[in-house]
Amino acid sequence: MKICQTIAEMRSDQGARAKTGRFGFVPTMGALHEGHLSLVRAAKKQSEVVAASIFVNPTQFGPNEDFAKYPRTFERDCELLKNEGVDFLFAPSAEEMYPKGAVTWVTVEGLSDKLCGRSRPGHFRGVTTVVSKLFHIVEPDIAFFGQKDAVQLVLIRRMVRDLNMPVEIVGCPIVREADGLAMSSRNAYLSPEERKSATVLNRTLKEIRKHFDQGERSTSKLLSAGIKIFQQEPGARLDYLEIIDPESLHAARTISKEALVAIAAYIGTTRLIDNGMLQSNLVV
Ligand code: AMP
Repeated sequence: MKICQTIAEMRSDQGARAKTGRFGFVPTMGALHEGHLSLVRAAKKQSEVVAASIFVNPTQFGPNEDFAKYPRTFERDCELLKNEGVDFLFAPSAEEMYPKGAVTWVTVEGLSDKLCGRSRPGHFRGVTTVVSKLFHIVEPDIAFFGQKDAVQLVLIRRMVRDLNMPVEIVGCPIVREADGLAMSSRNAYLSPEERKSATVLNRTLKEIRKHFDQGERSTSKLLSAGIKIFQQEPGARLDYLEIIDPESLHAARTISKEALVAIAAYIGTTRLIDNGMLQSNLVV
């Protein structure tokens, strides 16, 4: 695996790999877990050459968020990626990615201020800006993102469509711990007690799914059922719980075909997210 720390190094290898077939890309912020590795495995299956990136992107963190303490496990991450057969790792510094005086942003208007974008102002602007920069530097044919960050995936798909970026976006399923907690680099912040409370996100989603499977289609009733479960967990504080259209991200009153249920909550000081799709087989 070739490790490239500069943009020039990453670009200098593009000629060589251009002839070798489809080029897959998995962007990450490191502190890798099975969720990240599932994206790498999908990339290996669907492309001849695979690049990953590790970059803790400062512009997607708010001033009072966890940028400084975000887990950084570079040596271990390199081993994991090497073992998966990744060909290139792009791991730039913040100075390399954001030259002094950089003032250009990519914003997906109307979507970037919803859900996580509402509670984390500027977060999605940071995400779409860095992902578009990474696409320009790495120039992949196909890029892999987790459904874990469902809203992020919606924004990236829209950005790629709106800006005619020549890259195919693939969404990959959420990888979970045995008790349902979605894997996340931020799970490392949780104390043993908090780790138990953290399952409440998934339990809330499951309760909503249960009512949906029983035929309930009113989103307010589904949300009330979910909130009842959430409120039984004293260690958790709700940021948002929403049932939305998976493309427009607009809240729906009733579900006709499919909807995305998205939750964000604080467990102690750790903010976690999870989501699930509700899909109805009913023809309406
Ligand atoms: P991050 O390092 O948190 O920025 O995540 C990098 C990529 O891994 C994103 O596309 C995430 O959606 C994806 N990812 C993170 N956790 C999971 C998970 N539990 N299952 C599937 N994909 C994930």
